[in-house]
Amino acid sequence: QETIRQLAAGEVVERPASVVKELIDNSIDASATKIQIYVENGGLDLIRVVDNGTGIPRKDLELCVQKHATSKISSPEDLYKINTLGFRGEALYAIASVSRLRIRSKHGDSPGAELECLSPGNTRIRTVGMPQGTQVEVRNLFYNVPARLKFIGGPTSEASRITSTVKQYALGHPNIAFELQIDGKKQLETFGKGNILDCIGSVFGLQIRDHMIPVAYEEDEIEIKGYVSLPSINRSNRSDIHVFVNGRPVSAKQLMFAIQESYSSLLMVGRFPIVIINLLIPPEFVDVNVHPTKAEVRFADDRRVASVVGRTIRTALQEAFS
Ligand code: ADP
Ligand code: MG
Repeated sequence: QETIRQLAAGEVVERPASVVKELIDNSIDASATKIQIYVENGGLDLIRVVDNGTGIPRKDLELCVQKHATSKISSPEDLYKINTLGFRGEALYAIASVSRLRIRSKHGDSPGAELECLSPGNTRIRTVGMPQGTQVEVRNLFYNVPARLKFIGGPTSEASRITSTVKQYALGHPNIAFELQIDGKKQLETFGKGNILDCIGSVFGLQIRDHMIPVAYEEDEIEIKGYVSLPSINRSNRSDIHVFVNGRPVSAKQLMFAIQESYSSLLMVGRFPIVIINLLIPPEFVDVNVHPTKAEVRFADDRRVASVVGRTIRTALQEAFS
């Protein structure tokens, strides 16, 4: 029974960076405008995510670590118009199964409460003083799943995965101020002023901003907004191509291909641009159910979306050169 639970948890929380991702998703879903992430020892000793979102009412605090506990869906129809990042109610349950989890939260005018998960199903709750929002602390990740520890890298490599994850969110959410500290050192800070170019500066370095041009497209139900680099930027891998769908970081092969294609005559072979684009599409045209971690997406019309994205980038580059 316990093993099954830990195995299932492995699908949602593969490694420290997946915990960070789930916790940030929850903060975003709670309308946080400021999200701080603290990590120690590659996330294995500590992952703490502090937000200023709506908080969790005390009566829901114990429920939220239970299986399929979600406040985001109340009817089957809701499944077709999901606009929150989470909806399965699995993340906190899974994290609680493989770590020492503590959640502090303050909702509205009620006092703050702290829930401590001592072991699965065994929780303790007490009143604490704190500002509005939620603070989730994950300690000793995978302490009870030694097999899982063998599959993850050392603290340095896990820390760098966490950094990439947070950078990606920072780029996709210019309205949210992100701060990432790893072993007491600030790795990233954005200010939530809504300016994508500022976020690009925080993530890639200030001077990169001079090499970026805006892209925009709007027609029917598709809107595209973002920045692409001029060919003066030459990256050696595609990890700086960031595509978001309704604010959610995604990987979509067709889209990557279309983006690459629009640069094909401009960049050297094996070189890549920096691209940050957000696609705004009605949720019913997007299938986020492809994988439990929700990274892969499909569109009702994959080819049309890919061709619009490719064309939009091409147009922006052509204009920059004319
Ligand atoms: P899901 O996000 O799929 O609903 P989770 O297990 O990630 O499931 O979270 C369970 C529930 O806990 C959420 O539906 C939400 O009500 C609550 N919750 C979790 N994190 C936060 C947070 N940072 N702020 C407010 N509520 C939260
Ligand atoms: Mg969630």
